[in-house]
Amino acid sequence: MFDLVYGHSRIKTMLAKMVEKDQLHHGLCFHGPSGIGKRLLATEVARAMLCATRTGCGTCNHCRKFSGGNHPDFTFIEPDGNDIKVDQIRQISENLHFRPFEGAVRMIVMDGMERMREEAANAFLKSLEEPPAYVYFILITADLKALIPTIQSRCQKVAFQSLTHDDKVHILRDRFQVDQDLADKLAGISFRRLETDPAAWDSFRADINNALKFLHHTVKEGQALDALSELVRDKEGFSRFKDHLIALLRELAWTAQGIAPQPFFAEFQQPIQQLAGARPARHWRNLYEQCLWLEGQRRRNLNQNIWFNGLSVIEPS
Ligand SMILES: [Zn+2]
Repeated sequence: MFDLVYGHSRIKTMLAKMVEKDQLHHGLCFHGPSGIGKRLLATEVARAMLCATRTGCGTCNHCRKFSGGNHPDFTFIEPDGNDIKVDQIRQISENLHFRPFEGAVRMIVMDGMERMREEAANAFLKSLEEPPAYVYFILITADLKALIPTIQSRCQKVAFQSLTHDDKVHILRDRFQVDQDLADKLAGISFRRLETDPAAWDSFRADINNALKFLHHTVKEGQALDALSELVRDKEGFSRFKDHLIALLRELAWTAQGIAPQPFFAEFQQPIQQLAGARPARHWRNLYEQCLWLEGQRRRNLNQNIWFNGLSVIEPS
């Protein structure tokens, strides 16, 4: 059960047992870092609870409706604008007494609980205190402390940990078809919020664009460091950037040798092809190896400046 969700195996086993034995707590609270699968797992628990076979089979009438986003016994709440509003809570509490429309239970998943204002929280408390036997709440928050104590105390709390390196490699490999080697490198990098957060993709895109610009400068004008000056000021940004730079250089080395690009880089195919063709394959391979070496040096010496010094001697060739 819950195969869609990577990692969190202990939590998945526990929840699967609860669903199977019909022992799910009526108020669960998933808490832990954002973007690691809490919301996906909450949704999958709701799917399994509503499923005719209690497995989330994917084929029964309930599962099909759930996948189509129109199961009438599933409610999903998230902040409307900046916060979860009291009107949203009223909507839930007002029809809580309706028995399930189609299934045996009603599942209510609420994401972003830390963004529930006090007025809304107090209104919600009443629903949470004595829910009808067929109602199950799954609350999700990245910041448990931001929930008022009375809400916290009425929930069974489930603590999520960050994904392990291996989990991330799995995700990259299985979901994005990245090969093991690259997945292994990328997993350590910027994909902290890989699972759900489009922002992780945004920073990937931004980095690749910057890296392309940087390499373009090294090829054309020898003003590479200017292109980096903004990134240099932001340590974390630079750390992420140089990892993506390495991934991109490998991509360029491959492309220059006529090897098909990773799906990962599909949207950059044109500039990558162009850049790759501007220098012989040997150039890109050297540059790639040079950067790997720099990164190795940085790891051994724990000194980021090694990178800046190293990049500053990359000559237009
Ligand atoms: Zn089903």
